[in-house]
Amino acid sequence: MHNRIRPYAWGSRTTIAELLGEPSPSAHPQAELWVGAHPADSSTVVGPDGERALVDVVADDPEAALGGRVRKHLGDRLPFLLKVLAAAEPLSLQAHPSADQAARGFAAEEDAGIPRSSPNRNYKDSSHKPELVYALTEFRALCGFRDPAHTVEILQELGSPRLEHYLGLLSGQPDAGGIRAFFSVGITLPSSALDPLLSDVLACCVDRVREGSRFADEYRTTLELGERYPGDPGVLASLLMNHVTLRPGQALSLPAGNLHAYLSGAAIEIMANSDNVLRGGLTPKHVDVPELMRVLDFAPVAVPLQDGEPGDVPDEVVFATPFPEFRLSRLDLGDEPRTLHHDGPQVLLVFEGELRVERVPDGADAAGGGEALTVPRGRSVWVAAADGPIRVSGPATVFRARDGLSD
Ligand SMILES: [Zn+2]
Repeated sequence: MHNRIRPYAWGSRTTIAELLGEPSPSAHPQAELWVGAHPADSSTVVGPDGERALVDVVADDPEAALGGRVRKHLGDRLPFLLKVLAAAEPLSLQAHPSADQAARGFAAEEDAGIPRSSPNRNYKDSSHKPELVYALTEFRALCGFRDPAHTVEILQELGSPRLEHYLGLLSGQPDAGGIRAFFSVGITLPSSALDPLLSDVLACCVDRVREGSRFADEYRTTLELGERYPGDPGVLASLLMNHVTLRPGQALSLPAGNLHAYLSGAAIEIMANSDNVLRGGLTPKHVDVPELMRVLDFAPVAVPLQDGEPGDVPDEVVFATPFPEFRLSRLDLGDEPRTLHHDGPQVLLVFEGELRVERVPDGADAAGGGEALTVPRGRSVWVAAADGPIRVSGPATVFRARDGLSD
């Protein structure tokens, strides 16, 4: 496969370049490597008939590409999109719609005649976009709303007189309703009120960090966002959210309606094949607060970090989610070949070492499984449903993306 790089400004200049064995640092930020068949930036596959966009390969023969089971439940598109994500700076504060909200939002924007490529467009397609992020390095994120009683404690300790004025919204109702009230007031404040509030909050953050407050990490993150995005209501929202740091090898899955922002680090990300993002700040991109408010889930959540579970073969660790569109696993392959059985589409992305992959001959009279492919670090292979079982060996660390339907 040949994969496309998205050059968003928050991207790292080293992570993706080094993975691909290209000159590092790169000339421009490299934020995301897209491995898949999203119509906006499809990978291409190099086969016997030359190089073709994967999105076309799938559309031309969905039965061969996806197999009957995936087509029946998930339709005629590749259901997942795999990315390498390299954040040198914080990404926008965002949430993704549910399947229902995405279908309705997409139809409404089509009816309103908003071009799909318009920067003001919320719904680029009609799919929901659950996602899972797997940390390649230490990876920092804001994820979901913190237990409001704990947030009240953190905000009281902050001791910002101007914030005190709003704190009653949360302390008087420490539940999802209180979070909604506080968040919606904060995110819709006019700048005449927001600017002095933020400068007071940030000044208090500086003082508390200097004093070595037990919440210094939380205040430091808010300071970092305040410096990067002055006057942005997302800075205020960060005070309400869980601050998480994933160790390399840990994963985090994000259901629809979960408010999140990735802050720094490199990760593998897998998601339903969609680009539907509703942003609430921390970005120069299109922000639509009323629409974000409609999709947000204000229920406080504990952050469910995953360490993975044993997979199909001994060298595999799977990061399970309830989402049928995708399943991500990591293969730590040695020299010994392993056979992977799957009747749907798969993508294998080599992260370390070199992968050897070949089809397993079907039937006793088959004269070998076709030629073996050697896939170096940073490269990926498309495995169609019709390819049947494959045999893989390393030494290599490989990320395996496939559908997440239960077999
Ligand atoms: Zn997201």
